[in-house]
Amino acid sequence: MARIVKKFGGTSVADIEKIQAVARRAKAEVDAGNQVALVVSAMAGVTNQLVAYVHDISRLYDAREYDSVVASGEQVTAGLTAMAIQELGVPSRSWLGWQISVHTDDAHGKARIESIDSDELIRRMEQGEVPVVAGFQGIGSNSRITTLGRGGSDTSAVALAAALKADRCDIHTDVDGVYTTDPRIVAKARKLDKITYEEMLEMASLGAKVLQTRSVELAMKHNVRLQVLSSFTDEPGTLVVNEDEIVEQELVSGIAYSRDEAKITLTRVSDKPGVAAGLFGPLADASINVDMIVQNVSADGKTTDITFTVTKSDLERAVATLEERQSEVGFGDILSDPNVVKVSVIGVGMRSHAGIAQRMFQALAEKGINIQVISTSEIKVSVLISEEYTELALRSLHTAYGLDAE
Ligand code: ADP
Ligand code: ASP
Ligand code: MG
Repeated sequence: MARIVKKFGGTSVADIEKIQAVARRAKAEVDAGNQVALVVSAMAGVTNQLVAYVHDISRLYDAREYDSVVASGEQVTAGLTAMAIQELGVPSRSWLGWQISVHTDDAHGKARIESIDSDELIRRMEQGEVPVVAGFQGIGSNSRITTLGRGGSDTSAVALAAALKADRCDIHTDVDGVYTTDPRIVAKARKLDKITYEEMLEMASLGAKVLQTRSVELAMKHNVRLQVLSSFTDEPGTLVVNEDEIVEQELVSGIAYSRDEAKITLTRVSDKPGVAAGLFGPLADASINVDMIVQNVSADGKTTDITFTVTKSDLERAVATLEERQSEVGFGDILSDPNVVKVSVIGVGMRSHAGIAQRMFQALAEKGINIQVISTSEIKVSVLISEEYTELALRSLHTAYGLDAE
């Protein structure tokens, strides 16, 4: 007997037939003698619609009310899925975040799960009932509904698997695993049988939407056996594992991209101690995350240009915050560009091999793609390029690192 948590994303519960197919998967596990809990997302497109409603009503909306609106999509799917399972003769019950409870902090719109009360669910699973948990939501310290950030049902599933001490957490989605890069953009992308937690964490945080970053962090921390697989076929998926479980490690395992980047350049910034602190301090105070940064000293040594990136949604606020500091810190112009994309190559093999970044620069140069900013860490190299070259860059890099499927 195994205890399994299975999560189904939006496209996997997009209509009644798909919800019935999910119910049949749950029944199959029960018939095989396993205990199973499901975590479900809102039906495809529903969360986007709810977010749009919020933006239509209020530009500077109240984050608590945002959460109460956008969490509602998952409630519908959880109820429908529990009913569909009951229709197959298997006892099932839906659970909202506050009913379990899934306790989170109070960071509305991007809350973190702190603990999950699992006793009641375990008791019911032991009696053959299938809990269907609404993903993406929890309850804050003041009893208000919280949500976990877009894609947060992945994190709900992994946190539940950790709390239930499940043998496995299956993330069912519209692709049959984790690929070397987004298969919707690069047709030659190859499915990986296994990927390390560390690489998956980088892939997710650098833009691969297949798993929410926080879910990978949690899986790594609690040693949850995580698998990404299709909702529609029975093919084996991709296992996320420790490094020692991978026999033949590729130099580069994946390429990710994020369109959620915007570039800001400050010209003629006075070159003296304290300037960076004077610029980035106020941005941090406004909760604006700065990602890539480059600084160039001008020929006369008195001023520098500083270029950095923020998320697209923070661009307007970042520019306004900097304008307020212009006279105090002292700089020339603020130039901003939202039409950029960050492309990253990821692989634990980089730790022990030189020349990986060079191959990236070469491949982009051959296509005439200009690199605007570069940043590196132990297992990744990222470049910022013009957004119009996203597809070309991904395909060229995929070929350059020998990742193309046969
Ligand atoms: P769900 O609604 O099931 O949570 P998502 O849309 O959040 O599904 O995530 C699945 C999508 O992630 C895929 O359809 C695919 O386009 C995208 N994706 C991006 N990078 C990758 C990758 N490296 N491997 C697989 N899928 C990826
Ligand atoms: N429904 C939420 C979203 O669209 C959560 C999820 O699907 O994981 O972001
Ligand atoms: Mg998702």
